[in-house]
This record gives sequence, structure tokens and C-alpha cells, in this order.
Amino acid sequence: MTRLKRLTAALQTTTGTVDALLVTHPQDVRYLTGFTGSNAALVIPARSTPKTKPMLFTDGRYIEQARQQTRNAGVVIAQDPVLREACVWMQAQNMRHCGFDAEHTTVTALDGMRQWLPARQRRSFFQPLAPVASRLREIKDAEEIIRLRAAAALGCTLFENLLTVIMPGKREVEVAAQLEFAARMAGSEAMSFETIVASGARSALPHGHATTQRLPRRGFVVLDFGVMLSGYCSDMTRTVHLGRATAAERDAYAAVLEAQMAAVAAVRPGTSCGEVDEAARSVLRRAKLAEFFTHSTGHGVGLEIHEGPRIAAKQQQKLEQGMVITIEPGIYLPGRFGIRIEDMVLVTRNGAEVLTPATKAWIEL
Ligand code: ZN
Ligand code: ZN
Repeated sequence: MTRLKRLTAALQTTTGTVDALLVTHPQDVRYLTGFTGSNAALVIPARSTPKTKPMLFTDGRYIEQARQQTRNAGVVIAQDPVLREACVWMQAQNMRHCGFDAEHTTVTALDGMRQWLPARQRRSFFQPLAPVASRLREIKDAEEIIRLRAAAALGCTLFENLLTVIMPGKREVEVAAQLEFAARMAGSEAMSFETIVASGARSALPHGHATTQRLPRRGFVVLDFGVMLSGYCSDMTRTVHLGRATAAERDAYAAVLEAQMAAVAAVRPGTSCGEVDEAARSVLRRAKLAEFFTHSTGHGVGLEIHEGPRIAAKQQQKLEQGMVITIEPGIYLPGRFGIRIEDMVLVTRNGAEVLTPATKAWIEL
């Protein structure tokens, strides 16, 4: 079944009250049609007939690209704003209600959408829906898994090559620059987020983007980065140590690694995201480090670096085969040090496959 057909089916089960779904979130548009332009409105009729097939509205900059890329939808090159044309088209189809993604639509955008409607329909036409397309994207198909696998594998190679670059006195930005140059040379379209190189006391900052600080003679270096290949993101974190570590640092690393492996071991279809989070958290609780684990255990990854499901405390959502998630517990001791270890994991039929098999053993450089 094509992705658009799956979406239409999901639309019919989630609500019977809309005539169409409006999709504007770029990654959802790409997922459903292949079109990668930055300005698009995709209208998907709830009941597709030969006369009312999905329609993609975009602007004149994308005439050629839209023709080349778009599958399973008609293309309309519109005057900007494209939403005006989309609204006019829906009116012409006698549509009365259109769902939109409440999570990705701002209040301003909604006001903008409504102004293209006749006054009597402004209140009732657009209906907020849970993100139908983004929910479909949580379960990856075979083609997506191939791409995610390739992105994750490139991340591992880059990490292994980076170990010769990390040394005292080098600035964090230089480490990031060498990583990112190598990523581009290997074919990466972009980094999937701003590279984190956090050394010494800065390793206690969970989002310590690389700065001009020089790597210390001794201390941890947290490296968290991702590449983008064919639109798909990788995400991994490794923590290495420069110079001789203290017993407390080694023990803390061992505890984070044990927590990370416990959470990976808990991944299988039917397990709730909350249970996976708890598997990591309980190890750190026993090690008396749970108070320093200040974020959730992981997140889905795909066309976006952060997507569903959320692997966090008390999350009831169950894992399903084909989901790709991260498992990334960490601890952050303010003013002292931080440690995080992150893998990308594919939920398989009866367990999990780690897509980022780069070593997690203690590394002292
Ligand atoms: Zn990460
Ligand atoms: Zn992550």
C-alpha cells in the first residue's frame, strides 16, 4: 500500500468528519509525495476518486522539481501564498471540512489559512487533528530502513576516524569542523543537528555545542552528532576520556553504559516507551546517579532528528516493529563532568537491532 493510501485509511478511522487533510509540514509532504521543496500545501481527500486525487500546491520556483519528484499526487503551480489556491480548490470540490495538523500549525498560519475562505465557513472549515502523517512516519518501511541504516553506518565510521583527531589543546570547534568536513566528503547532505562537542566541565551541559574552548589534558569529551543521507538523519553519542580518569569517573561511565544497554535490551514490540525509559533509569537509581539523568531516554528518528515516539517516563505508547528510536541515557554533574551514550535502534519482530555498533567500551586517549 502506498503511503498516501495508508494515510487515507488512517484518516477514515481517526475521524469521519473531514473531507480532506491539509499537510504543510515539509517532512510529511516529502514522506507522502517525494517532493522536497520548502513551500508546499498537500491536500489529501478523505475519499480519493479519479476526480479528487491528492493535490500538491507549490510556487513557481519549484516547477521543474515538483514535476520530477512528486509521486501519487497532482501538481498545481500556484501564486504565493499557495494556501490560497489550496483553499480555492477545496471550495471548488464542495469540501466542507478540512483537517490540519494541530501540532505543526501555528495560530498565525491558521489565521492565514482562514482568510482564503468565504466568511460563513471561516469558523468551521478547518478542524484541528492529531498529526496523522507524523504518526504514520513512526513506523519505517523497507526503503526508509535502508536509508537510516546507511546514515547510522556513516556516523559510526566518522566517529572511529575522529578518535585520531581528539587530543588535548585542540578546540572543540576544530573537532566539530573535522567531523563535519569528513561527513560532507562522504556524501552527507547536512548534519542532522548542530554538532555537540562538550569537553571537561562543559560535558555536564547536555546540549553543549562546540565552542572555542580547548580540550583539556584530562576530562571527558561528549560527542553527539548526526549526518543526513537521502533526507534521513542519524544520531549517536559517544563519550571518551582524555588522560587518566579517576575511579569515580570510571564508575560513572560504567553505570551509564549499563543503563544504556539495559534500555536497549528492553526494546521489543509491545513494550511501552515508559518501560524502556525505566530500564535505563532504574540502573542509574541503583548507582545513586538517577538525579543527574535529567532528560528522557530517547526519541524516534527518521526524516526529522526528533520525531515520535518519545522514550520517556510514563509514556504508555507501545513500541512497534519498524520503529527506529534512540537510546541515550546520560548523567550531568554540574561543574564536574557529564557522560552520555546514544545508539540508534531498530525495533525488530522480536527485539532490537543496534544500527550504530561503534564501540561503547571505555576509551582513554
Ligand atoms: Zn544525539
Ligand atoms: Zn538523540
